[in-house]
Amino acid sequence: MTHLRLTFTLCCPYQMIRPNDPTTPKQPIANIELSVVVPIYNERDSIPALLSVIQDSLEKIYISHEIICVDDGSNDGSADLLREYAQKHDNLTALLLRRNYGQTPAMAAGFEKARGKVIITMDGDLQNDPADMVKLLEKLNEGYDLVSGWRKHRQDNKVTRLLPSKIANWLIGLVTEVKLHDYGCSLKAYRAELVRDMNLYGELHRFLPALAFIEGARITEIPVNHYARKFGSSKYGLGRTFRVVMDLMTVYFMKRFLTKPMHVFGSLGMISTVSGIGLGVYLTLVKILGGQDIGDRPLLILAVVLLLAGIQLFSFGLLAELLMRTYHESQKRPIYRIREVVSSPALEQS
Ligand code: UDP
Ligand code: MG
Repeated sequence: MTHLRLTFTLCCPYQMIRPNDPTTPKQPIANIELSVVVPIYNERDSIPALLSVIQDSLEKIYISHEIICVDDGSNDGSADLLREYAQKHDNLTALLLRRNYGQTPAMAAGFEKARGKVIITMDGDLQNDPADMVKLLEKLNEGYDLVSGWRKHRQDNKVTRLLPSKIANWLIGLVTEVKLHDYGCSLKAYRAELVRDMNLYGELHRFLPALAFIEGARITEIPVNHYARKFGSSKYGLGRTFRVVMDLMTVYFMKRFLTKPMHVFGSLGMISTVSGIGLGVYLTLVKILGGQDIGDRPLLILAVVLLLAGIQLFSFGLLAELLMRTYHESQKRPIYRIREVVSSPALEQS
């Protein structure tokens, strides 16, 4: 067995954990370096092989770790199997959700529970290769906050999956300005504090790199293996493409205007109001100076609509400003993120 020693700048001291080795004392693992989070929804047949390959991959490196399998309300017995495994293994947590919430909430639940300094996520269907975790960790160690997998040779249906995914990736790149080839790959490594700063809604797990980018993270990607599904079936169809586009709009808004909604609503409102007033003045002049009838002119309707829409947009912007303040202040959520604070030694001692 080759031992690859990873030298994390953040992660020390090392602790070698061999979960299934009877000589490893059964006690809570302190200083967990790595948490592997896996959402599971009806993946019963994949679970035994999945856990075994994750363990095998992690045993090859000196890193203390835990595996968190989040059962997202499966109805094929996955939860029972995970419960059984969690009782047998030392470093496995089975987090069983009450019902099926979706992949994003399942991952968010896993993040909440994770204690590692680094978090790796992957699918529970064996389409990702757990052996790639080492590559992700090495890359992260080069100073990145997030390393995303790139399924260079993706093994999914060309028409229903690859094509929509190509378009979605292009669109996401365009809108978010995060340049990755493959946003949809679940195999990713994050510094834990990055994930803790993010709130996930909808199906936003796909946009974690974009959200992380908003938080000022250093992001990169590396090619990873991808296999065809051996067991069970995919939980998504073509409908996902539309949901991705809707989520993309949310992310775009968050990226551009989260802390300044009045800039978007106010500007639009201003344009609309000014155009409405301009048209109104023009029509008044036509009526007074030209003596023409304006009652049946479509321009009059347009002027009224523009004016009303402008006032609405303006009020909406003000409300959004209030909401944004509540959003940040209720969670004590600063509008900035600090990467590092470096003080002179004298200041640190005082
Ligand atoms: N998943 C989940 N909840 C859901 C749908 C999916 O936890 O409601 C999990 C699923 O078990 C798998 C991962 O999310 O581990 C990705 O799902 P899937 O493999 O169906 O997506 P695909 O690879 O086809 O994009
Ligand atoms: Mg899959």
